[in-house]
Amino acid sequence: MLYIFYKNMFLKKHKTNVNISELVLYLSCPRKVYYAQRDSRASAALPFPQVEHMILREMGLSYPELLKTYSSKDEELFRALEALLFSTAEEIKFIHPEELANIPADIIKEATGNLQPGLRTIAENLLSLLRSEHGFGLVRQLESFQPGSLLHSETLVISGIPAGTVTIDGVLSPMIIKTGKCPDNGLWANDRLHVTALAMLLEGAGASPVKAGIATYARQGVIRRMNIRSDDRRQVLSVLSKVRKIKDGSMPDRKESSLCDSCAHSPVCNVQSSLASKFF
Ligand code: SF4
Repeated sequence: MLYIFYKNMFLKKHKTNVNISELVLYLSCPRKVYYAQRDSRASAALPFPQVEHMILREMGLSYPELLKTYSSKDEELFRALEALLFSTAEEIKFIHPEELANIPADIIKEATGNLQPGLRTIAENLLSLLRSEHGFGLVRQLESFQPGSLLHSETLVISGIPAGTVTIDGVLSPMIIKTGKCPDNGLWANDRLHVTALAMLLEGAGASPVKAGIATYARQGVIRRMNIRSDDRRQVLSVLSKVRKIKDGSMPDRKESSLCDSCAHSPVCNVQSSLASKFF
């Protein structure tokens, strides 16, 4: 009896580890976290690999170096971006061998061709950051960029890998890279949450309070800094507990969206929703 009591106490106290990528997945669809947890084969086979996004993400990792090297020479920066695109396209299969194992070379070629027309915009936005007065401080901070490595916080029981870190006001701070559309101002709400979660992870790994982070919108070449507020931290904790609940077995409601059309879980998700609606 006593054994069961202590066992239950331990189980209650034991917290399931959450990866920051699961928080990001939750924001796209809570049910994806549920299925990814239960069927790793489905998540591995998940979407039809988004080669364009992968190439852009790798390119985004090199923007700080480009800013450092190409100060304000328009054409040189554009040529450097072109070279970066082609070298990334050649290397991408070596960087993501599993995800791209079955992707034929012409898909990578097509993705590269799709990205080429956007290079002018990327170059213009990076140059305007270099030339603007407010961008100067940010460019200086980006000089300290280092690619991210795996971090774990014992206190929050979370782990994850930031795309990179930069030193802001003497504190190691996170940088994320996004490959979708950039908002007109600031960061998308989900991206604020992503940056904040990584900041809290860095703090848990021993850093001082992290007050800011950076988001790179790689498709447009836009790099923005955000200041982290208490409200952002509250939201991270709230999503964290919801993700943990899902990982512990609770299935969230189906969230119908445009993502459902290309979702690998769609067949099972549809069936489970109609069964649930029959019984409840
Ligand atoms: S089918 Fe739609 S609701 Fe179901 S897991 Fe996929 S994205 Fe989420």
